[in-house]
Amino acid sequence: MQPDHLGDVSFWYADIGLPKPRAALPGDAEADVCIIGAGYTGLWSAWYLKQAQPSLRVVVVEKEFAGFGASGRNGGWLTGGFAWNHGRYAETAGTDGVRAMVRAMNGTVDEVIGVAETQGIDADIRRTEELMVAVNPAQAIRLSEEVAHRRRWGEEERVFEIGADELRPRLRIPGAVSAMVVTNVARVQPAKLVRGLAAAVERTGVSIYEGTAVTSLEAGRVATPRGVVRAKVILRCTEGFSAGLPGLRRDWLPLNSAQIATEPLPAQVWDEIGWDGHQIVGDFANAYCYCQRTREGRITVGARGVPYRFGSSLDSNGAPDPETVRRLVAILHRHFPATKPYRVAHAWCGVLGVPRDWCATVGFDPATGTGWAGGYVGVGVSTSNLAGRTLTDLVLGRTTDLTRLPWVNRRTRPWEPEPLRWLGVHAMYALLNAADRAEARPGVTRPSWLGGLGNRLTGRG
Ligand SMILES: Cc1cc2nc3c(=O)[nH]c(=O)nc-3n(C[C@H](O)[C@H](O)[C@H](O)COP(=O)(O)OP(=O)(O)OC[C@H]3O[C@@H](n4cnc5c(N)ncnc54)[C@H](O)[C@@H]3O)c2cc1C
Repeated sequence: MQPDHLGDVSFWYADIGLPKPRAALPGDAEADVCIIGAGYTGLWSAWYLKQAQPSLRVVVVEKEFAGFGASGRNGGWLTGGFAWNHGRYAETAGTDGVRAMVRAMNGTVDEVIGVAETQGIDADIRRTEELMVAVNPAQAIRLSEEVAHRRRWGEEERVFEIGADELRPRLRIPGAVSAMVVTNVARVQPAKLVRGLAAAVERTGVSIYEGTAVTSLEAGRVATPRGVVRAKVILRCTEGFSAGLPGLRRDWLPLNSAQIATEPLPAQVWDEIGWDGHQIVGDFANAYCYCQRTREGRITVGARGVPYRFGSSLDSNGAPDPETVRRLVAILHRHFPATKPYRVAHAWCGVLGVPRDWCATVGFDPATGTGWAGGYVGVGVSTSNLAGRTLTDLVLGRTTDLTRLPWVNRRTRPWEPEPLRWLGVHAMYALLNAADRAEARPGVTRPSWLGGLGNRLTGRG
């Protein structure tokens, strides 16, 4: 099935219209803080810096437009979860440190919603539950392990398992045997959130320059074709695009994620599916999917598709390849067969940043005045908010509960050079997809070993 629209950054901009471009950097400039990249990370950092110290001169330079990247393309899951490996963090931070991180992350949902409310940001925010569904016995085992794991690490208040009978009144997915429920999450329209946040940041006196690509940065100096910004503090907030900056090609791997959105669906489809609570919905496949029910009654489905482009290269304006679209439509029809007669209105994709250890980081080097945050591995809607608050404390030289969290100033080794990088990621996803096919076979009751092998291959597991 061919979607009506392909790329154009994302469906979320087809929904609200692309923004009117802001001015580019008018020439050389001076600031106290120069932020590179106007996605959630850059904008939250600007927001909290100005809240903490209104006199700071903060400038944001953005290659395209505010919200061009993953922040304007994502699945709209505001979950208060984040990408990490509890064990790896515990090695340095201990159990208490990991639990502090869980608490801080869970708090981001209320924090984001609170700022949206006080700033009048309409982002179709709806508080709801996350429902991660298992559709075969192998997935159900993985699900129970994940529930136990998250409850052990401090989420016993909000993560629990339900069986098929309890799931059915919430959501009807063929073959569902159980679900993990995560409370205190929200669904958002991501482009509306980033657009509103950019406007709120501007109201605090921050200048956002668009169409201004940073070509190099060194201590105190950010170079662009439009002029040089001199600033004592420079924050790199380019996440999945970071490989395009000098010296960073192998730091964070730009992993693709793609989505489709159906046309608005009629009442009889919703009667069949349920989903009255607008929960954010995913599955426990090894190559999992993530879905939302939008404000106007569409279903969006996201998944990995073709995972990575050789040489860390990027998509063109968010257009996914035909094979990725085919896979997403197959997931849509498998989980929601009632949607088969209806059109797919839009397909798009974007990149997210993946560090070699698959753990998000935020950091600041006082010697050079350079900070960074990212590597959120596809869980950045909440994490970017914690990153913005943490960078603010680090820049201002404060030692706080946030700056003591175990993800602060974590360093990891770079990714392998090509073609190893491409081979590794493609082999990993080939194994995850093979594991999913094996687990879907009748009579299979255990998770496939291929999934574990796939994760171990690139250091994810
Ligand atoms: C398809 C998709 C679905 C996702 N779904 C979810 C989800 O449902 N929930 C969740 O929590 N997370 C999700 N994520 C991840 C989340 O969207 C990101 O982690 C988050 O938006 C990252 O924000 P950011 O500001 O760090 O990066 P971005 O939003 O990518 O912003 C980086 C900005 O830097 C700019 N830039 C790049 N290079 C330069 C340069 N040289 N000079 C100047 N500017 C530059 C870019 O144009 C861009 O605007 C998803 C990601 C993708 C791609």
